[in-house]
Amino acid sequence: MRPIYLDNNATTRVDPEVVQAMLPLFTDQFGNPSSIHDFGASVGAAVKEARRQLQALIGAEFDHEITFTSGGTESDNAAILSALEVMPHRTEIVTSAVEHPAVLTLCAHLEKTRGIKVHTIPVDRHGRLDLDAYRAALTPHVAIVSIMWANNETGTIFPVAELADLAKEVGALFHTDAVQAVGKLPMDVKSVAIDMLSLSGHKVHGPKGIGALYVRRGVRFRSLVKGGHQERDRRAGTENTAGIVGFGKAAELALKFMDDQNTRVKSLRDRLEKGLLQRIPNAFVNGDLLERLPNTANIAFEYIEGEGILLLLSREGIACSSGSACSSGSLEPSHVLRAMNVPFTAAHGAIRFSFSRDNSEDDVDRVLEVMPGIVEKLRDLSPFGGRRDEVSRNFDPV
Ligand code: PLP
Repeated sequence: MRPIYLDNNATTRVDPEVVQAMLPLFTDQFGNPSSIHDFGASVGAAVKEARRQLQALIGAEFDHEITFTSGGTESDNAAILSALEVMPHRTEIVTSAVEHPAVLTLCAHLEKTRGIKVHTIPVDRHGRLDLDAYRAALTPHVAIVSIMWANNETGTIFPVAELADLAKEVGALFHTDAVQAVGKLPMDVKSVAIDMLSLSGHKVHGPKGIGALYVRRGVRFRSLVKGGHQERDRRAGTENTAGIVGFGKAAELALKFMDDQNTRVKSLRDRLEKGLLQRIPNAFVNGDLLERLPNTANIAFEYIEGEGILLLLSREGIACSSGSACSSGSLEPSHVLRAMNVPFTAAHGAIRFSFSRDNSEDDVDRVLEVMPGIVEKLRDLSPFGGRRDEVSRNFDPV
């Protein structure tokens, strides 16, 4: 049985071209890019090329606006902590209820330990940001707004250009976690008022443990990691050169496959979604149907546990996820679905299918073949199984 991987928002397969690009960095090109001799210089040039490849992917004006980090989590932390440091007189942060824990956990920590006021903007039933609450939270006390470009669980896209303009009106910095959006949505950061943007290698068929932070030229920045002068004093520590080169190659490929994401991959996602909703009663899509990443389908199957679905799909060789990878393992519905007020009997049965350029029509056919039987089987075992109609009267599924 050929395994089917539909958990690409958790991580992606490293592209073989990326592996090839990285290999020399483990053999001949082992130098330290800070060294002046030839061993260092050739690696320095490779790092520079990777910076250019990332610059091209997001449409940054200058390559030095890209700083390499250890991943999306570090980039998010670095952006927020830097803003508080460069604007010590501003003690408030604006974020959303559906951010990744890389942002939300840091914000909670800052609130508790440093008395920072955090405005957590709610979302509606479709995961859309409450713009009135957002406007109301924006005051000259806000140091930074950190709102993701697209949500990792539902794929819902936030209007970051508009949000950034509003943040600028009160002099706040605007950071966006674009970890899930990059490579799936065309980006041109030079034409929007985004000050900082987080990226991660392993979500775009690059290696794990490498990421980047875009910092617009002219935006003051303080390094999170203190030490040597690497990355123009923005991120101390000898560079993860193989990771950087791999990430650069992955960025180049992501740009090449951008159209594929928005045509072929999107149509696979749409066919799966439509097929599941046609075949399975009491199922609905979580997220904004119009403003959504092309690769993500979050579907709630009412009256059953997502973990049960995952287990039975896994027996069929199909990998996907319930909630985010970080929160799976606990039976609590994810903070994202809770923030969206998805009814509890549906939130528990929410499954995220996330596609990539590696997926095919056959993958969709296989899921459509096995999924109705799995849901039926679990519903027969469910405590709600016998009184579905009674329960569903309380719901307002979309
Ligand atoms: N932000 C978002 C939206 C994510 O989906 C993830 C990964 O799941 C991260 C941040 C963290 O990135 P990394 O795994 O590179 O630290």
